[in-house]
Amino acid sequence: MARNIGLNVPAPEKECSDVHCPFHGSLPVRGQVITGKVVSDRMMGSVVVRRDYLHLVRKYKRYEKRSTKIHAHNPPCLHAEVGDLVRIAECRPLSKTKTYVVVEVKKP
Ligand SMILES: [Zn+2]
Repeated sequence: MARNIGLNVPAPEKECSDVHCPFHGSLPVRGQVITGKVVSDRMMGSVVVRRDYLHLVRKYKRYEKRSTKIHAHNPPCLHAEVGDLVRIAECRPLSKTKTYVVVEVKKP
């Protein structure tokens, strides 16, 4: 049985035994929820998520494209891959650069 993580996201179809899974382990999520695209899945248990946003340049009254890359934990039950649209939720630091975990995967 998947835990209720307090977010309006569907529970994953598969089960897993990852302690760092918010649904089947004991990892609480709190704080920000971000939507982004997976640009790399080559790490063990992690993905890189890119978030694109527009920044207003007042002098020219135009927007410039900016982006940030966020490292997120990828539980085996969700298994996000390159090109997937994912929602990631903030959690406690899991490693030096990981403070987010994938909570929903939308296949393109
Ligand atoms: Zn899981």
